[in-house]
Amino acid sequence: MPKKTIQVPTELLNALADAQHVVVFTGAGVSAESGVSTFRDALTGLWARFDPMQLATPEAFLADPDLVWGWYEWRRQLLLKAHPNPAHQAIVKLAQQVPKLTVITQNVDDLHERAGSRDVLHLHGSIFNPRCFSCAQPYPLKQAPAMRHEQALPPPTCSYCQGMIRPGVVWFGEALPQAEMEAAFAAAENCDVLLSIGTSGVVQPAAQIPQLALRSGALVAHINLEPVSCQHARELSLVGVAGQILPLLVQD
Ligand SMILES: [Zn+2]
Repeated sequence: MPKKTIQVPTELLNALADAQHVVVFTGAGVSAESGVSTFRDALTGLWARFDPMQLATPEAFLADPDLVWGWYEWRRQLLLKAHPNPAHQAIVKLAQQVPKLTVITQNVDDLHERAGSRDVLHLHGSIFNPRCFSCAQPYPLKQAPAMRHEQALPPPTCSYCQGMIRPGVVWFGEALPQAEMEAAFAAAENCDVLLSIGTSGVVQPAAQIPQLALRSGALVAHINLEPVSCQHARELSLVGVAGQILPLLVQD
């Protein structure tokens, strides 16, 4: 099948050329293009009979820490084998072409950082930043032994308080990290262009971010496999693969 030609609206190209501050807001779709399975699809093997609600809550962790830690550790090791894709790389390039660029992500992987992005706000935490369940002290991830198969694994112990180390992600029922949220809202309110990429835009409060940008007069472009219904004159929907569309927004 011939590749569909993607037309990038001139309005968007002009806005990017004039922008002082660009915000890139990313969701699962961007990681999916690197082969990272979505949360639900990652429940395989040992964990297949579980619901995310049974593995991704503080209660689940306390009830069976080995099962939950093992699952996150397995996912982390799979992530180490994934690579940034052309969408991640285009975002790095775009950052070099505008005075200021902020990445706000709902993804818990480090693919933006590995592509070379700086100034990344992780609204849902990072699977690479575990911390103590009791005292919140960050835990340095040393070279963890490679897992050959999916297995339950006891979490490490905090060297300060002997508490259990937990994954550094935001679980169901937990608040999003306040400093990151405040920085994200401030960036959305102060940007000229916001690119919302690979995110369904339905999970609150993260879904407010494009709305905040629109209210502050920014141009908002949704880049998604599915069309996004645009309610606002300054809102655009580009349908397609982020790894194909984003390179069209940056100069070579
Ligand atoms: Zn501790």
